[in-house]
Amino acid sequence: MKLTTDALIVRENNNIGESDRFVTALTRDCGLIRASVRGARNLKSRSSSATQLLCYSRLTLYRGREKYIVDDAEPIKVFFGVREQLDKLALAQYFCELAGVLAPQEEPAEEALRLLLNALHYLAEGSRPLPLLKAVTELRLLCQAGYMPSVAVCSGCGAQDGMWFSPLQGVLLCDTCHGTIGAVPVSPAVLAALRHIVYAPFERCFAFALPEMETTALGDVVERFLLAQLGRSFNTLEFYHSLT
Ligand SMILES: [Zn+2]
Repeated sequence: MKLTTDALIVRENNNIGESDRFVTALTRDCGLIRASVRGARNLKSRSSSATQLLCYSRLTLYRGREKYIVDDAEPIKVFFGVREQLDKLALAQYFCELAGVLAPQEEPAEEALRLLLNALHYLAEGSRPLPLLKAVTELRLLCQAGYMPSVAVCSGCGAQDGMWFSPLQGVLLCDTCHGTIGAVPVSPAVLAALRHIVYAPFERCFAFALPEMETTALGDVVERFLLAQLGRSFNTLEFYHSLT
């Protein structure tokens, strides 16, 4: 079966000794797929350059019994600005690794793809702080994958202020209810940002600003939530932190 779909390349595997080059692509119509790239050994081929990591391309695919084959790839957008700074590139690679874990497989992934493309656009453009882009991308990907935290009111009593956030439970708890187990205090500004990221329509999810210290606190609470929910870390995340 032949199909054409737009996709972001989120992983390249260039194993020495293997005749095929494999990529993992986040496609609009089929979610995450692993595919071999036809003609990829010819480095001048269009398919080869359009299936590099972080390329957004239109793929023509053959779907075999067990795998996909990229028959042709035409670049739509290359995020050159991302490669200008090592911390931007590291963050982009982390977004790709995270999407490789959280994005849908074998089903349409329009929203996950749009989120990644928006994040890479802002990263390349340099118009928003990296920690803010990181927090929004992490939290929205988690929400899309079914890990939506409850950030409206205290989960114990319904109170609306004096809030703590439990990364493990993914809920808010007030001064009275939070107890002592791992909840972190969140300022009103950080709480407003969390609510914005979780509840805003997609088009507006990156559209807010915070002072630098609050952005750091937001990044900390979102990353704690992510690591607690997924129960694992990421090499690309550790590399990003080693640079910042
Ligand atoms: Zn309470």
